[in-house]
Amino acid sequence: MNAWQQRSGATMMRTFGRPLALLVRGEGARVWDADGVEYLDFLAGIAVNALGHAHPVFVEAIARQAATLAHVSNYFATPPQLELAERLTRLAATGSGGRVFFGNSGAEANEAAFKLARLNGGTARPRILALTDSFHGRTIGSLALTGKAHMREPFEPLPGGVEHIDSTLEALETAIDESVAALFVEPIKGEAGVLPLPEGYLKGARELTERHGALLVVDEIQTGAGRTGEWFGFQHADIRPDAITVAKGIGGGVPIGALVTFGRASELFTVGQHGSTFGGNPLATATANAVLGEIESAGLVRNAVERGAQLRDIVRGYASPHIEGVRGQGLLLGIALTEPRAQELAAAALANGLIVNAANESTIRIAPPLIIGEVELAEFERRFARALACLDHGTQTESDR
Ligand SMILES: *Cc1c(COP(=O)(O)O)cnc(C)c1O
Repeated sequence: MNAWQQRSGATMMRTFGRPLALLVRGEGARVWDADGVEYLDFLAGIAVNALGHAHPVFVEAIARQAATLAHVSNYFATPPQLELAERLTRLAATGSGGRVFFGNSGAEANEAAFKLARLNGGTARPRILALTDSFHGRTIGSLALTGKAHMREPFEPLPGGVEHIDSTLEALETAIDESVAALFVEPIKGEAGVLPLPEGYLKGARELTERHGALLVVDEIQTGAGRTGEWFGFQHADIRPDAITVAKGIGGGVPIGALVTFGRASELFTVGQHGSTFGGNPLATATANAVLGEIESAGLVRNAVERGAQLRDIVRGYASPHIEGVRGQGLLLGIALTEPRAQELAAAALANGLIVNAANESTIRIAPPLIIGEVELAEFERRFARALACLDHGTQTESDR
């Protein structure tokens, strides 16, 4: 173990595994470690660095806003905050305006959505539905929504009323009635292994929730900001949810999250019912405006569609016995393996200068920055091929690291 690993082991909370490298610098889709080793970053901080690293638009926005006004409090409005709220509701394009509550992370956005659900019917609607295997965050409320028992169980009892159901319309039809306040869904379950919802699910879920007076809350934390080839994942299904939660990519690297509501859901919160000290501060919102503005003006949503299709072709082109297929949309892709060797393959990729991650034991997740072009794709193709070859030779395993 070298010095930084020792420091990390001695002082960091044991919530994460041993860090894979000590990263010191990034540019575009590349990062460098303290020894000067370069990596192609096809994880982008887990779908966060939409513009890659150190993008001049991102850098300039932070620097300019820090030199102008970084933080006030929610007793005051600031121009960047208003602009971002308007921008998010415009990009959601539900035709019904909307309202925004700003927080600082995905979990906080879902906490706000959880409270919103409680306000829909109060004690007359004690039930909230969420999906098996879903991921909505690690704070107590968002964890209650999360459909992974091994994450929830050590922290029980959790806030009551949440039930996890299978991701089928039949399961929803059986579970839903007038006692349900809300249904929470991810358009693609990123943390579960990049698992899309069944065809027609969102449309059917919209009908069923509407019929029973339940809110449809779409967690767009991983799928938002253009990643799937639309601004938000729900837009592929052509529905209007009651609320979406966003975070990750909208800030391009600054901590930010938001709950965005539409229609009657915008009337539920009243003064004093929720708050956040940092939420919506000018530093974070100015940066998010710049990031989303650049995604828009540089046509990066379109780029996600085109590069995503090319990446699928690359993966299919390997004709590797280790690869079963590829799932997902745009630049949120899951490479399904024929064996549970995703950890080993991700480690081999890293050893070959490529950052990807094992979303589950048999799926590699790739979520590169939205700015990638031909050069990055060609580099990915070479490095991932080398990683795949390591699986045959067994040259790189997790225990070697
Ligand atoms: C990452 C993620 C969250 C949690 O976001 P944090 O910023 O880590 O709190 C919630 N939902 C989904 C779908 C996510 O991908």
